[in-house]
Amino acid sequence: MIYVVGIGPGKKELMTFEAVNALNESEVIVGYKTYIDLIKEFIKDKEVVQNGMRGEIQRCKDAIKKAKEGKKVAVISSGDSGIYGMAGLILELITKENLDIEIKIVPGVTASIGAAAVLGAPIMHDFCHISLSDLLTPWDVIQKRLKLAAEADFVICLYNPRSKGRKDHLQKAFEIIGEFKSGDIPVGIVKNVGREGEFKQIVKFKDIDFETVDMTTIVIIGNKSTYVYEDKMITPRGYVL
Ligand code: SAH
Repeated sequence: MIYVVGIGPGKKELMTFEAVNALNESEVIVGYKTYIDLIKEFIKDKEVVQNGMRGEIQRCKDAIKKAKEGKKVAVISSGDSGIYGMAGLILELITKENLDIEIKIVPGVTASIGAAAVLGAPIMHDFCHISLSDLLTPWDVIQKRLKLAAEADFVICLYNPRSKGRKDHLQKAFEIIGEFKSGDIPVGIVKNVGREGEFKQIVKFKDIDFETVDMTTIVIIGNKSTYVYEDKMITPRGYVL
């Protein structure tokens, strides 16, 4: 049995009961070290298999090996397990090898949803998620999606916005989006949602300081109706008030 558990963005209050139950029921917890640390209180004396950032495939193979031994295993992802998380990879491996292992995907509060609540209501209307990481997606595909999402005036949530190795991607993304969105559109920047050091900032599109953004940050770019009132970022649903 493998549970693929989205543990939410950070604090336990943002975990689902189903995620907590899955962790409690599991004998082995598999995950990236930073996320294992976030759920320490649920681990107790369980067996832990952890490794670094780029070890996803090995981590999932380790989980499958433990499940084959008859153990109940939880593979954890931050946020939601099916949004740039482990759910897809586990299912791909299982289907590729045609394995007879029960899999239960447990959803979680993804970073965009957690950040939206911190900011107010910025994703009340149609929105999309775009990851700026080109480790698994070619950069020209990412650029095309940015362009078309901006042209269609989606609210855009940027995951993996700016790493040490890809410092310029966010700026390039803003150049592409800026062809279609006005410089006055509000942009919400939220760092460490639900974790120690949570930080939020709302700026105009044209005023963003890229230096404030790193890999623990999510960036939400409004649509043409999004506005700011005091410290809240709001995208109207369309109600006539
Ligand atoms: N499965 C995760 C996403 C993993 S991709 C989810 O559903 O949230 C990693 C990216 O998600 C980070 O680079 C960052 O952009 C975003 N992210 C994840 N957790 C975050 C948090 N607590 N605060 C802000 N951004 C976060």
